Amino acid sequence: MLTSPLPLRPFGALLALLSLTAAPYRAAAQTNLPAAPVILLRPAAVFDGETMHSGWAVLVEGSRIKAVGPAAQLAAPATAQTLELPGLTLLPGLIEGHSHLLLHPYNEATWNDQVLLESLALRVARGTAHARRTLEAGFTTARDLGSEGAGYADVGLKQAIEQNLIPGPRLLVATRALVATGSYGPKLSAEVDVPQGAQEADGVDGIIRAVREQIGKGADIIKVYADYRWGPNEPSRPTFTQEELNLLVRTANSAGRPVVAHASTPEGMRRATLAGVETIEHGDAGTPEIFRLMKQHGVALCPTVAAGDAISRYRGWQPGQPLPERLQQKRLSMAAALKSGVALAVGGDAGVFAHGDNARELELLVQDYGLPPLIVLRAATSGNARLFHLPDRGTLAPGLLADLIAVPNDPTQDITTLRQVKLVMKGGVIYKQP
Ligand SMILES: [Zn+2]
Repeated sequence: MLTSPLPLRPFGALLALLSLTAAPYRAAAQTNLPAAPVILLRPAAVFDGETMHSGWAVLVEGSRIKAVGPAAQLAAPATAQTLELPGLTLLPGLIEGHSHLLLHPYNEATWNDQVLLESLALRVARGTAHARRTLEAGFTTARDLGSEGAGYADVGLKQAIEQNLIPGPRLLVATRALVATGSYGPKLSAEVDVPQGAQEADGVDGIIRAVREQIGKGADIIKVYADYRWGPNEPSRPTFTQEELNLLVRTANSAGRPVVAHASTPEGMRRATLAGVETIEHGDAGTPEIFRLMKQHGVALCPTVAAGDAISRYRGWQPGQPLPERLQQKRLSMAAALKSGVALAVGGDAGVFAHGDNARELELLVQDYGLPPLIVLRAATSGNARLFHLPDRGTLAPGLLADLIAVPNDPTQDITTLRQVKLVMKGGVIYKQP
């Protein structure tokens, strides 16, 4: 599973952590406590989350970055191990802004079948494999935006990763997500009530209770569906009222949790923005006016272009053919979004397509939507960290988490190099190396 020749396998790190935890009892008397391992990483260049620096190196001590700068100026202690990374660029671990570790691609099983027919045990087992693939693809943090019928299994996955039982990214989880009664799915016949892909809640008491329940059971984020297709073969329409959304955001925020909204219609996006959500997911039918409103209110757009691309392919479209209406619409709304200057979060909706293929979102933003690779890289590192309130990562600086990846050549020139992640380090532990 782990190929590192360095004594930094997760279990070793766990032991080190345990011995450090026990340390205070004897710290005063002993001076020979095991020192945190020190590693000097010497790539061809460093992208620090903002800018490329050729000839820089990074010094890691334990789980944190100790120093970053020109290689000649980094004083590594004699005990440091050196990892030579010739020809590679070292950069902060990427941050996935929108994933569903408990879903797998819809061309393998429809969303309805996953929610209704797959057991929780099967879904969790898949989730562990998805977590590992996400990490090995260079995404050391992920916002997981809804378990889609798998209850609080995302909280358990997060704990298993934190306890070093399985490899995976650091997770921010949304648990069940909130939908207005009747608006979500799966829908069978009117006579059959089936488990839903999210928690239904309505009105003052219902919403307050559901938000608090999710927070109490481990939600880092509250996700709300501000619009959805009320019936099959109809367009999305708003779900919650403005008052309901306001209350939902107030309840979550007072417990220190941000709210993110699934919304693709102008009215759903408008209500979510006015209610005070932090990011709007998808935003496919956003208008210049709505994106201006979002910018005004400091709401970011997470456009999930990879999800629309994947769904269009599942329906038979192939690149090179005329764009289906869904993608034409997305090109127009993204052009309006970029023109408005609204902040972009980067997240692909992984789960709709394969976990581990997360770089697809970054690639498409460059190739199909015309963003410069440097802008996309900044957004997927320092930008996402800022939007998701993660000041301990996303850039490379002393004291921050040693979440690092290495890719060939210069990813600020060629975004496709992100497909060839050669090194993955999370919290100073190496999960993949050349
Ligand atoms: Zn999603």
